[in-house]
Amino acid sequence: MLQNDKKKIKNVKYAECIRCGRRYEAETELGLCKCGGTLEIQYDYEKMKKEIPREKIEHSSDYSMWRYREMLPVAQGVTVQNMMVGGTPLYRCRMLGEQIGISELYLKDEGRNPTASLKDRASAVGISKARENKKKVVCCASTGNAAASLAGNAAADQLRCVIFVPANISQAKLAQLLIFGAIVFRVDGNYEEAFLLSEQVIERYGWYSRNAGINPFLIEGKKTVAYEICEQLGWQSPDYVAVSVGDGCTIAGIWKGFLDLYELNWIEKLPRLISVQASGCCPVHRSIKEGMVSKAALEGTLADSIAVERPRNREKAVRAMIQSKGLMAEVSDEEILEAMKMMGHSSGVFAEMAGAAALAGVRKLCREGRIEKGKKVVVVVTGNGLKDCSSALKATGQPMEIKPEIQCFDKIAKTLDLC
Ligand SMILES: *Cc1c(COP(=O)(O)O)cnc(C)c1O
Ligand SMILES: [Zn+2]
Repeated sequence: MLQNDKKKIKNVKYAECIRCGRRYEAETELGLCKCGGTLEIQYDYEKMKKEIPREKIEHSSDYSMWRYREMLPVAQGVTVQNMMVGGTPLYRCRMLGEQIGISELYLKDEGRNPTASLKDRASAVGISKARENKKKVVCCASTGNAAASLAGNAAADQLRCVIFVPANISQAKLAQLLIFGAIVFRVDGNYEEAFLLSEQVIERYGWYSRNAGINPFLIEGKKTVAYEICEQLGWQSPDYVAVSVGDGCTIAGIWKGFLDLYELNWIEKLPRLISVQASGCCPVHRSIKEGMVSKAALEGTLADSIAVERPRNREKAVRAMIQSKGLMAEVSDEEILEAMKMMGHSSGVFAEMAGAAALAGVRKLCREGRIEKGKKVVVVVTGNGLKDCSSALKATGQPMEIKPEIQCFDKIAKTLDLC
């Protein structure tokens, strides 16, 4: 343990392995535990209870995620970059709720982040930690959004950024990377192979790793979405929070956020998580059901952001699900596309496949009667639909064709029910 006078990260005690319990100083760069387990940042809640009254946060004029800076593991004195990450809206959606049978349904629109996905919350912390550790280059492998967010946040802070992406990355996500000036390698292989290559490169060249399954600081950024949800609901947790799962960092991060607030007595109860995976790729659910690492063949899914064969944060995700008595849903690509269309039509929020998956999962659980009536449910829309328009157009079909003549319009007008 460090001496107190050397302690630079306020309120953090240490990092602890979730598998073997071994502890590490949190003041250094951290990866996996010696045993291979994932580390978790532990806070001094007793101290925080005294020093951070809830009102102090409420009165903050910072509406980004850095409003919760004292609850984040960034050393004092490090200037955090000033992009507007976080502070996304929580919409009460009456129509959508009625359609799927939930009396209080909310959408947390994470597509409103600077690079249009929830990943910005982790990247913002990653960039600050890279600065703290005096790194000049940040690096990751990604199915798209983690990379786009790292590239954007790095550009805003003038750090160099190197990215490895799998061959199936969407055009929009690729364009984001290149526009933000990242050095991009398209790996001739899948995400798993891109990931392994990136870790070797990071180790060899001493760059800063933004691979969230490995770097324990990153999910601390993701937890801020839970803080916001609670604050937006008047410091209450919802009954359920639905989130789509790939590597498992997002769901684990969200759970950590609720746990923090519960430990601080800022909320009275914890929500239950709803983990949603694509039926063509659901290894985290298999682990929960079968209690082991299953090697079954995967058919894949159009939901690229959650098409993860070997989840890098499986243990944390499984633990979060067990602790929260979570529900699981697996949804087909057709069900995701339907939910995407429904969400757009009834709420004006455009989700990418992985974002719409969470709603599809809630809808499925409602149909099966597994979510009781009268519950308060938050669906985290993790990414914006503009990131992958070709999938969206599969849901909608093409527009009507018309000649530029009013008579042609008149003929159709009668059928439109708009007169
Ligand atoms: C990354 C991502 C997820 C899943 O997060 P994991 O940490 O990989 O489980 C879900 N939706 C979107 C849009 C994402 O980018
Ligand atoms: Zn360990």
